Amino acid sequence: MSQVIKIHPMEEFKERSRVVLNDPGQRKNFRAAMDFLQAKRHAQFPDQDEWQGLRELGSQIRRYSLANLPRLLEQLEDRLSANGIQVHWAQTPDEANAIALGIAQRIKAKSVIKGKSMVSEEVGFNHAMEAAGIEALESDMGEYIVQLAGEAPSHIIMPAIHKTKQEIAKLFAEEIPGVSYTEDVDALIRVGRKVLRRKFADADIGLSGVNFCVAETGTLCLVENEGNGRMCTTVPKVHIAITGIEKVVEKLEHVPPLYSLLSRSATGQAVTTYFNLIGGPRKPGEKDGPEEVHLILLDNGRTQAYADQELRETLKCIRCGACMNHCPVYARIGGHAYGTTYPGPIGAIVSPHMLGLDITYPLAFASTLCGACVEVCPVKIPITDILVRLRNESQAKPESDEATLRGSGAGRTVVGTAVWNVWAQVYGRSGLYRLASWFVSRGRALSPSDQGAWTRSRTPLEPAPKRLRDLLKERKS
Ligand code: SF4
Repeated sequence: MSQVIKIHPMEEFKERSRVVLNDPGQRKNFRAAMDFLQAKRHAQFPDQDEWQGLRELGSQIRRYSLANLPRLLEQLEDRLSANGIQVHWAQTPDEANAIALGIAQRIKAKSVIKGKSMVSEEVGFNHAMEAAGIEALESDMGEYIVQLAGEAPSHIIMPAIHKTKQEIAKLFAEEIPGVSYTEDVDALIRVGRKVLRRKFADADIGLSGVNFCVAETGTLCLVENEGNGRMCTTVPKVHIAITGIEKVVEKLEHVPPLYSLLSRSATGQAVTTYFNLIGGPRKPGEKDGPEEVHLILLDNGRTQAYADQELRETLKCIRCGACMNHCPVYARIGGHAYGTTYPGPIGAIVSPHMLGLDITYPLAFASTLCGACVEVCPVKIPITDILVRLRNESQAKPESDEATLRGSGAGRTVVGTAVWNVWAQVYGRSGLYRLASWFVSRGRALSPSDQGAWTRSRTPLEPAPKRLRDLLKERKS
């Protein structure tokens, strides 16, 4: 049942993409799911002026929060501490897991029940707990399904979107004792709920993510639909929340616009079923709530992105998943092909500062640059500009000014560099360019019919029989 973060080099990324592309069933599932999500989101923004105004506001709030990040994080820590929430800082995934493990070992915890948290996926939380002999069970239905299947989430909002109800029915019948095969979705949900209900009561620790941390009040905001987030944060005696350092906003009044953008963009809902505001542990005389609340604030490369004005824009992300739902590449290959915790366009731009460009640069090329992601991003992240920047940086000369990220220049090859150098020389000299284009157009019959990846699904490219210059000359004469 463990989930280990798996990073795949370029060849494996291509291979995994090919497997999905050659599977008509999977492609149909993804296409149908993406069409459904796109339609739901679209219905939430019928008024273009309202949409543009709201996303501008959302973008400004996120930009303001980031511009004041150091101050807001200090204020957040002060307010949270005053509210009785213990704040921990983790620079790396290992540090985050060590903090959680320290808390778990101190209270002799045997089990953790988890609400949905992509940051816990990012740090490999389940694996770290299981290695220490502590059970970590997902309680979000989608997360529960992928955990049961021994898989990782394929979407940041809908982790099991790649699975059909038949696959889930088979999984439940095989993995949960006493459950028989049924394709009745309500019955399947009831099965999951029954298993999890007992686990909430038995768990020593509840773990959750956080959507927004409010600095002025020291409040943790948690958006969810299933009620499992509320159970995780109130039933066990210890609640650990984990999130990235970028999730802070200054004021409570900054939350509603972001919440509206998030729920409408993510699931096409005007509001989610639950919106939790966590203000501290149980107080004397209160009947419920945890005795201890902890917040782990994770860096994991975020300060590296923060230091770069262009990459800082990636930290505005509110993890709605809309860019994935509208990406023609994601819609065809699904989330697992990417091999990173965050797939799709958002994954391609945040994974490099978390994991290094050497491992993740192929993801920047998994885009048509059509801009659909930019059009739907509720906080106006210039995703395609950043993809182009990462592509360039993957080819940067080591130690040049362009090489700012860990692993810069990893995509540079001797042959590629030589070809582009020759091209730059020819293209930069008009006489040489004239001569080269004359030779190329006259020698078009020599164009190879096999042009690698290009001719796998397209006809071979051939130079035009006449250059533009020749055509213009003919027209004039
Ligand atoms: S990049 Fe924009 S669209 Fe994509 S998940 Fe983040 S906020 Fe949503």
